[in-house]
Amino acid sequence: MIKSVKSLVQLMGKSNILEQVRYASQALPQFSSEKYHIKRKNFGTIESADIGFFKSILSEEQVVTDESDILPYNIDWIKNCRGQSNLVLKPKNTEEVSKILKYCNSRRLAVCPQGGNTGLVGGSVPVFDEIVLSFALMNNIVSLDDLSGSLVCEAGCILETLDNYVRERGLIMPLDLGAKGTCHIGGNASTNAGGLRLLRYGNLHGSILGIEAVKADGTIVDCLRTLKKDNTGYHLKHLFIGSEGTLGLVTKVAIHCPVLPNAVNLGFFGVESFDNVLKLFKSAKSNLGEILSAFEMADFDAINSTVNSLNLPKPISDFPFYVLVETHGSDETHDNEKLMKFLSQEMETGLISDGTVTSEPSKMKSIWNIRESIAGSGLTVGYVFKYDVSIPQKNYYDLVPRLKTRMGDKALLIYGYGHVGDGNIHINVVVPEYNSEVASLLEPYIFEEVSKVNGSVSAEHGIGFRKPKYIHYSKDPSALQLMKDLKQLMDPNGILNPYKVLPDGPN
Ligand SMILES: Cc1cc2nc3c(=O)[nH]c(=O)nc-3n(C[C@H](O)[C@H](O)[C@H](O)COP(=O)(O)OP(=O)(O)OC[C@H]3O[C@@H](n4cnc5c(N)ncnc54)[C@H](O)[C@@H]3O)c2cc1C
Repeated sequence: MIKSVKSLVQLMGKSNILEQVRYASQALPQFSSEKYHIKRKNFGTIESADIGFFKSILSEEQVVTDESDILPYNIDWIKNCRGQSNLVLKPKNTEEVSKILKYCNSRRLAVCPQGGNTGLVGGSVPVFDEIVLSFALMNNIVSLDDLSGSLVCEAGCILETLDNYVRERGLIMPLDLGAKGTCHIGGNASTNAGGLRLLRYGNLHGSILGIEAVKADGTIVDCLRTLKKDNTGYHLKHLFIGSEGTLGLVTKVAIHCPVLPNAVNLGFFGVESFDNVLKLFKSAKSNLGEILSAFEMADFDAINSTVNSLNLPKPISDFPFYVLVETHGSDETHDNEKLMKFLSQEMETGLISDGTVTSEPSKMKSIWNIRESIAGSGLTVGYVFKYDVSIPQKNYYDLVPRLKTRMGDKALLIYGYGHVGDGNIHINVVVPEYNSEVASLLEPYIFEEVSKVNGSVSAEHGIGFRKPKYIHYSKDPSALQLMKDLKQLMDPNGILNPYKVLPDGPN
């Protein structure tokens, strides 16, 4: 069993739904509704006439009713949440999405939008019998303007496919994450995904130029502009970026793609203390300035458990912390010299204890592979409680040692890694299997601690199903009320992704 779970994790960059079936069928998680004691809201239930309607507007293969085919759509990537949907719909275009929603709204049938199903907060899978609306068949690239860098595509395009496409035309996607081989651009937009290069290219509220979305009643909202500047009234695209499918379904995205850098360099450094990691970050900002594209850190347990469990080569020997610094620039010689100078200077100051710098694509890929595999490696050992929080950089790592003391031998491993550059730490707590006693030691403790330092309970993964009851730690009641008002306005029957994001949505 471990062997195939391992291969799933290694394949994460390229995995498809088939691997997920294999994975999911090995040990089915408990139904989310039972595990978290959720009561079904007052939605309609699917009847044969409903299936008949969907078959009248979609082709046979777009209406999935077979239980085993539906299984992977009911289980999230981390195998924590499991829904009970009996129906998956796979529209091929915006008009079909519109017809489906119009009908569902009239019948008060709840809908769970799903992209690549790599979300880590249970937002992408149903809780009860919501219809899964999968974007997998909406994967056309509409246009690319290589002068302005604006790409227009359908929501179901896989991030890595888009990146390969624009790279061949001298551009890159402005975001990169470990799940790139599976996640969809529509899912990225709906979660406001961050990732490895946010430090350089900013978040999706900046990169996304326009959005086409469908409201709960089937209305198509066309905000699909490709302009960098458009100050014509309310900036409506932002409503759909990061709202996790609760305000509307994203059907097309226009996104700005930066120019493919001529020179990419990568450094992997061993560091003795977290204090030194922070000093190194400060130094990288001033010494690498305009070419710095990523500054990532991982502690010993994060790297060690990943390379061991997945049999990956380790670039340098053991250190308490590791830092990965990437540069994107226009001059190979200049950039390489700059990074080499940074390495030798900081080895002299003692901030870096050992390190390696490379611009060789295969070596860079192998180092990035270690960093990108951390998120999934714990799954080869057991169940992983995953936290994704924003913390002011001076307090960034404090929670990890505190959690180790608090959990004692109740956890197999506790490690921290993440995007130091933007204050986002991921904390993983690995246990043999899900355990409610462990859960109650971790939550709400972690969120209370984050709140004490004015952090955020979700830095990039979103609120989804797992965090609505903790959203108040990071959102003022006045802001929460406005969120509820918006939901009421845009989805009065509450059919879009119920039980997610809002602590107590309509219906
Ligand atoms: C190995 C790994 C590494 C990851 N690294 C990162 C990282 O660095 N940064 C980061 O931010 N996240 C990361 N994630 C989390 C995840 O990949 C992102 O949240 C991603 O954006 C989700 O995209 P998806 O297509 O898989 O969406 P899904 O998981 O299918 O859905 C996510 C949410 O968006 C909604 N949704 C999906 N598509 C649409 C749509 N078209 N319209 C409306 N709503 C929709 C769903 O209902 C759900 O609420 C990682 C996950 C894994 C497994």
